[in-house]
Amino acid sequence: MGACRVRIVKYPHPALRYKSKPLRRVDSGLKDMVRQMLDLMYTHEGVGLAANQVELPYRLIVMNIKSDLAAKEEEHVFINPVITVRKGLEEKEEGCLSLPQINAPVKRSQKITVNAYDLAGQEITWELEGLYARVVQHECDHLEGVLFIDRLSPANLLAIRQDLSDLEAEFAGDRRLGLIPEDRLITARLAELETART
Ligand code: ZN
Repeated sequence: MGACRVRIVKYPHPALRYKSKPLRRVDSGLKDMVRQMLDLMYTHEGVGLAANQVELPYRLIVMNIKSDLAAKEEEHVFINPVITVRKGLEEKEEGCLSLPQINAPVKRSQKITVNAYDLAGQEITWELEGLYARVVQHECDHLEGVLFIDRLSPANLLAIRQDLSDLEAEFAGDRRLGLIPEDRLITARLAELETART
């Protein structure tokens, strides 16, 4: 990565539909990516961020449910996360940094067990519930190319349809201005990044 800077892409950017691949190793390049993702998450006051939201095709998520740089104990990095156990069901409002200003209720498991590697390369098993479990499920969905709007009831989806249309129009406008490359160039870049680390 080196000096390469990342930014958060918004719906309907194709990177958000990309199925991320497992990382092979932890090195300084990966640590730099994680730092940039955390910085962006804090800047935008988010509680979690997945790598494909910053156009990186890797199974990597960051989380801080306080969204506070000072709350270091709440800062967590999950490399190659896998949810192995799901229990209970709970419906709560969610939002997403890739769908700004949109909130809607989503049903998620209340408790989960997740296996992942940390930045030291250690395998860790986490048992999470409530907001922690919700954020990890939301971010793991991103790695599969799934967005929270895919999990809404038809009525709740209808309620935000105009907001989605506005984002789609904004994306089309940015593309006309040349701010967003064509799909084939985005796909080629993701494939190149994938080859480098997976
Ligand atoms: Zn999200």
